[in-house]
Amino acid sequence: MSDLVTLYLYAVSALLFALSLRFMSEVETSRIGNWCAVAGMVIAIAATLLAYTIRQTDLLLYAVIAGTVIGTPIALKVPMTAVPQRTAMSHAFGSLAVALVGVAEYYTDLPNINPFTVAVLCGEMVLGFLTFTGSTIALLKLQGTIPGRPFVYPGRIAVSLANLGAAAGLSVYLVLNPTHSFVIPVIAALALLFGFLLVIAIGGADMPTVIAILNSFAGMSASALGFVLDNKILIVAGSLDGSSGLVLALIMSKAMNRSFVNILFGAVGAKREEAGGSIEKRTVQGYSVQDAATVLANARTVVFVPGYGMAVSQAQHVLKELADLLEGRGIDVKYAIHPVAGRMPGHMNVLLAEANVPYEQLYEMERINPLFPETDVAVVVGANDITNPAARNKPGSPLFGMPILDVDKAKTVIFIKRTTGAGFSGVENDLFFNPNTMMVFGDAKKVLTDLIAALKGG
Ligand code: NAP
Repeated sequence: MSDLVTLYLYAVSALLFALSLRFMSEVETSRIGNWCAVAGMVIAIAATLLAYTIRQTDLLLYAVIAGTVIGTPIALKVPMTAVPQRTAMSHAFGSLAVALVGVAEYYTDLPNINPFTVAVLCGEMVLGFLTFTGSTIALLKLQGTIPGRPFVYPGRIAVSLANLGAAAGLSVYLVLNPTHSFVIPVIAALALLFGFLLVIAIGGADMPTVIAILNSFAGMSASALGFVLDNKILIVAGSLDGSSGLVLALIMSKAMNRSFVNILFGAVGAKREEAGGSIEKRTVQGYSVQDAATVLANARTVVFVPGYGMAVSQAQHVLKELADLLEGRGIDVKYAIHPVAGRMPGHMNVLLAEANVPYEQLYEMERINPLFPETDVAVVVGANDITNPAARNKPGSPLFGMPILDVDKAKTVIFIKRTTGAGFSGVENDLFFNPNTMMVFGDAKKVLTDLIAALKGG
């Protein structure tokens, strides 16, 4: 195939990738965005296969079959709550592939490799290898296979930075001595170790943001490889991936009022017990579903506040049913959406859209907070950190400074969760003990179903 045709196909594919990001930024068009990305990738792969002379088509075929057989069931079976883990897994494999192609390219080009190519290859290998181990640790922490709390030890930041510095120093050495190939495995080992040390010292609550940062690294690494291979679509796709990952990480850290340095090196969550220690001694009064139904039946305005627990219990459909029932009785219903409710940006929007909740009933934090003082009942469905007043009034708390939904300002707060346990940050919630808070303990779906029955019965 001529170079010109390949270029045209790459241009179409790049356009589709850009359109996919545009469409995915709105709930209504996100499915189209997904299909644009799929089409762009199919065109990019086809154009690449046609452009290059493939010497071993059988190996390629086996790889495609193996990838499809392993990937399809994972994509179909992974629950919404495990999407961050699945994303971490994709980054781990993607970045490992990029790093290994970089290594192969280096050895293939020897001995006539130029210093510029070596410099770019070193950058992409370091990013690729550190993203591989970093994403693997993030995956294991999110899955609960290894403890989520940060693993801290004296001088850990210095050790990590010295490690990265050594990899950078050896890269400079290789640029100056491009044929000294013995350095490559050492650089790879140092980068792998750095990714491990970096993420093992970060708390589980920060993993979604870490994954977005690693996503950005994986994209940059792929883009750098595109320059080495002179593959334009790899440059474009890698840049889009790198920049969108960075933007996502910035949005998340802004919503949590945290800096990148604090997320990467702050070890937030290491002092988990101290953060919530005093609360264990207090008691909380549980209310029955019937009590909650009576309060709801007498309300004029109700705001639902969904969080991670709604996702776990898959309670979005029954929540919509309850909302419909209340609306049928003339009660004004709204949903308050915190930007980091759940475990990924847009988590609540996606689940509520799945349950056909009208988009105009979803209120972002800035719009709903001024309305809480006039709200009769705020019903918190499996949310915790995003409502915790410690973010406003406890300067020592790891949550301090994070913008929250001001549910405590509502006349009555109904909390639906299973225990008085803490949320993802590990910080206990004083709101459970407020006089205007009603704790209704149980699985969100079960409690909401019982509430509907109680309202219908009464
Ligand atoms: P959260 O603070 O983690 O609290 C979720 C609560 O749901 C838990 O306290 C749990 O209490 C309850 N729960 C779990 N399963 C349940 C079930 N089946 N039925 C009823 N309740 C259940 O969640 P959040 O309020 O949504 O806050 C999100 C947290 O994730 C924040 O700390 C945020 O910073 C962090 N985060 C989010 C993102 C993002 O992009 N969304 C990114 C980075 C970090 P029980 O165990 O007592 O039931």
